[in-house]
Amino acid sequence: MSSTQDGYPSGRNPDEGEEGTLCDRESPLSAKRLSKAEKKQLRQALREAHWKTHAPKERENRRRNRSARISAMKAAGKDPSVELPTGKKNIFYLRKKRPVDQIVFSNIRVVIDLSFDHLMNDRAINSLVTQVSQCYATNRKLECPLQLHLTGFGQRFQQKITSLDGFEKWAIKTHSESYLDLFPRSDLVYLCDGSENVLRTLEADKVYVIGGLVDHNQHKGICYNLALENHIETARLPLEVLSEMKACKVLTVNQVFQILSDMSVKTDWKECLQLAIPKRKYPNSVQSYPNPEKKSEVHVDT
Ligand code: SAH
Repeated sequence: MSSTQDGYPSGRNPDEGEEGTLCDRESPLSAKRLSKAEKKQLRQALREAHWKTHAPKERENRRRNRSARISAMKAAGKDPSVELPTGKKNIFYLRKKRPVDQIVFSNIRVVIDLSFDHLMNDRAINSLVTQVSQCYATNRKLECPLQLHLTGFGQRFQQKITSLDGFEKWAIKTHSESYLDLFPRSDLVYLCDGSENVLRTLEADKVYVIGGLVDHNQHKGICYNLALENHIETARLPLEVLSEMKACKVLTVNQVFQILSDMSVKTDWKECLQLAIPKRKYPNSVQSYPNPEKKSEVHVDT
């Protein structure tokens, strides 16, 4: 059975009534007398009830799909232990399992600036921890992972991330200091969606800084303004390549990191952006890149 992005079997949401939608008069959630918090609680309870009944069926479906995929691979002469992401001979699986002292790192350095603890509530901090974990997982899959630094560790973020299983073994550098005290300013490029410079290539002598902030853009331009104050170069990702991407130009930390890590091994921005950004954000992308007509596109290394 296919599923929607939030994990529900496609077609119907458990919040919906037998035939209707959330707004249906029949739905308990549509009752006007319920407060926002009560509706949230009810929604959660409905979701849990849904999974209690459907989880065994879902598990069985997944098991059956996996067996079918394995059979299809075998029939096509492919080795499932190589093709499946969890196969013992799968290249990404093997890279993930490499001992840290056997990793050859790329020269490209990336900092996640974690100095925004005070601007986030617990939920946003949790979300940031998940995003940083995803960055780490993406990095481990590279043949030559980027040099990943976490700087300016905020207390709440630190507490959460250090409680993750195996965090102490991560191939990552953590610093309580700011990136400003760790690297020469001339090497730093703060990535900001509002920059007038477009990032074209990743340079080995630069340090790319990503703002470790989950704020649904409440603090619009905060990283850009900080970079200006500190006289640091800035650059935005060339999202123009996805010409249909009109709505939100602000990406998440893990999306930005994935784009950088893909660009460390590929040359095509469009391909890398498409790999990291959900399709719904750029329905009919057509434009190729670089576009010589666009005077605003500046080489960040000049
Ligand atoms: N409200 C924050 C955005 C946080 S998004 C702000 O305005 O600064 C988290 C981080 O991802 C940003 O700090 C930035 O480093 C990076 N980022 C997001 N979208 C980007 C884009 N289009 N180009 C370059 N960096 C981007």
